Amino acid sequence: MDHLSRLKTFEQTVDQQGLDGFALTHPANLRYLCGYTGSNGLLLFLAGRRVFFTDGRYTRQASEEVKGARIVIAKGPLLNDAVKLIGKLRAATVGFEADYTTVAAAAQMRKLVSRQTKWRPTTGLVMQQRMLKDGHELRTIADAVELGAAVYEEALKAIWSGVRESEVAGRLEYAARQAGADGMSFETIVAAGKRSALPHGRATSQPIPRRGFVVVDSGVILRGYCSDMTRTVHVGRVSREARQWYKAVLEAQLAGIAAVAPGKTAGEVDQAARVVLEKARLDRYFTHSTGHGVGLEIHEPPRIAKAQAERLEPGMVITIEPGVYVPGKGGIRIEDMVVVTASGCRVLTPVTKELIEI
Ligand code: ZN
Ligand code: ZN
Repeated sequence: MDHLSRLKTFEQTVDQQGLDGFALTHPANLRYLCGYTGSNGLLLFLAGRRVFFTDGRYTRQASEEVKGARIVIAKGPLLNDAVKLIGKLRAATVGFEADYTTVAAAAQMRKLVSRQTKWRPTTGLVMQQRMLKDGHELRTIADAVELGAAVYEEALKAIWSGVRESEVAGRLEYAARQAGADGMSFETIVAAGKRSALPHGRATSQPIPRRGFVVVDSGVILRGYCSDMTRTVHVGRVSREARQWYKAVLEAQLAGIAAVAPGKTAGEVDQAARVVLEKARLDRYFTHSTGHGVGLEIHEPPRIAKAQAERLEPGMVITIEPGVYVPGKGGIRIEDMVVVTASGCRVLTPVTKELIEI
């Protein structure tokens, strides 16, 4: 991984923003920029220098992981040590991550510095860089998606009428851990029967009914990177109506994928999927956005949603996941991860989308 070039690119951003320095603490941003995977860390860019602060618990880990920055083991709050360095500059404007700083922390930050030092809240500066995945990241994400697909296939074997949703989720999560996943990207969703109409139905102790859809939405974390996929299967005989819903969702999902290309806006991709469900008169049951970026975190920009003007670029990794949720009856969601390429996109998720009847 080329942390040094990531650090240098970010340094240019700091410059372009007219800042003398920048202080970061968000774990995913730290991991991305300097390789640190621990929990307590502060990376300070200051007048061409880079200093990483952590506490005594992470001395060894920091020395093994942190690239491209001098390491300081702080005795008290990391910010206090950082502020001492900042104070050495006569006057400085230092950026910080507004999205991950509480109001209380921001007030504390202001108290710690002299009047010559200004803190400037910024938003999304590292994320802007993280949105475009490099070759190493794309390979890791592809591995995570492969693993996520394999453990889904394992969980599929457990889906039978009478089996608890939680057992299906447990089987999936156990398989993920056994295969070396760092953990799950989010709480596994297994929603059966009427519960499949809940877009975020976390697995409960409810048994899978004799007849109905089962939505399984799951993801693993592998070497820091998340996967995310959803498949919907049907237990028992499928009614004609339910089959039509499924067909419409699949068509919408394929239309979303077909619309992904560099230069397209995220809103256009959302619209491509939405139009299919409009034609099938199911759009009022599609109650969320079409997708989201994925990387070190499960939900990253760009948001693939109505009227989003963000333009897609090669190297972005996004999900395409339309769904239809008919209250009291059931729901369907189909989700793949795709990477934007120079000419369109490549689907990463290697699992069939044909309707499986169990
Ligand atoms: Zn998902
Ligand atoms: Zn998703």
